[in-house]
Amino acid sequence: MRRRRTFIYSIQIILIASLVFLFYFVTISDKNLFKQGFGKKFRNESSSSFPRQAHLLDNYCKFAWTEPMDNTLKKRLKFPKRAGCEKYNIDLFKRYPATGEFSMKSKAHRNKLECVAQVLKGGLRPAAHTYQLGKTQTFSPKLNKRFWINANNFILTCFSGQLVIYRKQFMGFKMDENLKLVVDGPFEIPEPEAKILKSGSKQFSISILGLDSTSRAQFGRHMRKTTDFLQRMGSVVFEAYNKVGDNSAVNLIPILADELSETENMNLLDETGDVNLNKILPTKTPLNPDTIQWIWKHLPPEYITMFNDDVMHTSRGLFHYPPDNFLDGFGESPARFYYRPYYNHLYSQLSNWWRKCLDGELLAEVFIDSWFRFERIFSKTPHFGFTFISSLTHDDPNNLEMLDHTLFHRLDYLNRTGCLENTILIILGDHGNRVHPLNRYTFAGKIGRFEERIDKLDNISEERAPYLSILVPPRFRKQFPEKYRNLRENSQRFVSNFHVHSTLKFITSLSKNLESSRRNKSLFELQPINSTCQDNRVISNHCLCMVDASQDISKVPNSESLEEVLRTYLTDFNECFNVESLQCGNVVSSGFQIQQDVKKEFQTETLMPNNYVQVWARTKISDSEVVRKKERASAVRPKFDKNQFYEKFQVIYPYLTCNLQSKNGDSVEVLTQFRLIQLSQNITIPYPPRLSVHSPSQCSHFSFPTDYCNCVDLLLAV
Ligand SMILES: [Zn+2]
Repeated sequence: MRRRRTFIYSIQIILIASLVFLFYFVTISDKNLFKQGFGKKFRNESSSSFPRQAHLLDNYCKFAWTEPMDNTLKKRLKFPKRAGCEKYNIDLFKRYPATGEFSMKSKAHRNKLECVAQVLKGGLRPAAHTYQLGKTQTFSPKLNKRFWINANNFILTCFSGQLVIYRKQFMGFKMDENLKLVVDGPFEIPEPEAKILKSGSKQFSISILGLDSTSRAQFGRHMRKTTDFLQRMGSVVFEAYNKVGDNSAVNLIPILADELSETENMNLLDETGDVNLNKILPTKTPLNPDTIQWIWKHLPPEYITMFNDDVMHTSRGLFHYPPDNFLDGFGESPARFYYRPYYNHLYSQLSNWWRKCLDGELLAEVFIDSWFRFERIFSKTPHFGFTFISSLTHDDPNNLEMLDHTLFHRLDYLNRTGCLENTILIILGDHGNRVHPLNRYTFAGKIGRFEERIDKLDNISEERAPYLSILVPPRFRKQFPEKYRNLRENSQRFVSNFHVHSTLKFITSLSKNLESSRRNKSLFELQPINSTCQDNRVISNHCLCMVDASQDISKVPNSESLEEVLRTYLTDFNECFNVESLQCGNVVSSGFQIQQDVKKEFQTETLMPNNYVQVWARTKISDSEVVRKKERASAVRPKFDKNQFYEKFQVIYPYLTCNLQSKNGDSVEVLTQFRLIQLSQNITIPYPPRLSVHSPSQCSHFSFPTDYCNCVDLLLAV
């Protein structure tokens, strides 16, 4: 009896242990990118054989990372769930988002309505800011009977007698030269040729969805449903992505275009030794958008292309202005589906006054649906789509919230219907918000602003860190497991726009034998940790790599206070660390000027954003101008002395190295970056500290406390 009970116990223990191990390998290993090393893990149980997990603080560039929900931003944040768009006119037609079909839904006009479909053309140089009217066809829509319009840009107008009762512009697809303009019946999704569908194909479609003025932190706080979805799908968000220049064009050209022939012979650096802005986008040689080597021009002819730019004003558009930079627009259509005529008509109707809503619809949703339809209809056909939505977020970053619900649902639909199986989806912001008070007067906007409204300055910067996420489909991960692993590791590496271009170049080279970009390694290759702003071609007035703060601080941060904040932070990981064993005080860098009266064990490296970034220099200014701006800012508050002034508005980043013991006996080094507001002495830990586990153990390759502790917890449970 006793032996039998022992036997049952043993079986139970083995079962539980197997389940725990199974759980560990299915969840933790998968989550932490180390799927590839399974076999090794079993063979070498006493220590981890994986390379150490990448971490933001590994970078030589100490990046000014901002939390999505930074405390100092809170009073300027709004979360408008609904646009509340008011409707003024009758809605004659229902439009099906996935296909763009119409059906007449108004019983009042049953069978007696006369409508006209009319093609919109134009949008090309020398009249890129206008549209022309093209072919027309009259028709009588029948109640609940579907039809679609065989045109890219068109207007539908309906009359009751002589009276115009409906008129609206649309984006669509001209599918067939031989079909009539108005096609009765359902829209048929084209079947691609068999050779394109063959399994093992290395061809992938590319879908770029750009949201103007959208930073990483802003996307995280306003697009929560979408973020959750993308995360579940295995999408990678780049935490240390730095824009290279100020506005849209200078940031999108290096992503979408090869090196310009106009700049090939220019030096990488200017006469001051800084990155040469002219080499990225020349200011005195107006570029012809038709001759730029856009990434999609390298694709084989079977690729279907779309260029969809919400221009916001008929005189604008990416690569259309100012005249110093560009000839006035494309002279020939840059893609098979080119929607400028639609936007020209729309913004002419709005007299170039940007609006959030038009007749009951959130315009950004209408624009997103043109991206969605393209992805839906051409999901099985190789395609390249570039969509850029400007108007919603350009002036107010809070508006992004209104798009979350729709984008989430569109992505979810595409995923459920298998439309993302062949597509690499890149969602990006060109830069963060540049004009809203949230960013102009908060550190999170510009990292500081020593100007008239200095009292509005709260803290920190996100404008220079645009959002960038890349989602690759399972087929890609299966074919290139190492590349997918690198992509994920690179989420922690310091990168810029040029890396996105090399990444696109790699994808296009898969479809055709092409040389890869020479400018930077793609994000599918592991990026080095020692990249500087010069390497990444980020101009110094936008560079988020921090500099030594010793010149601008009045006293060395109190390392005991820092330690206390870390201690509190670590209590969340009580199950895994012996927090009492925490010992801090290692010197992190020798670069810091140490004050004589400070004991050695309290020395820490203390950094701050560079001066250009602090004074919000959009263009490069001289050092004397930086000093003048700082002094002027001090002068407008005469009651402050200079030191007090700096203390009040200066945000500094002390770093501290500590050691502690984990519950499984590892000795762990913890590198923590703190964020300290000088006057209030408010200290936070914006980014998870980096662990380096010195003792060899199964969990020693983890750098993030959460991942390391999940691993330790499971070991201890077994
Ligand atoms: Zn922009």
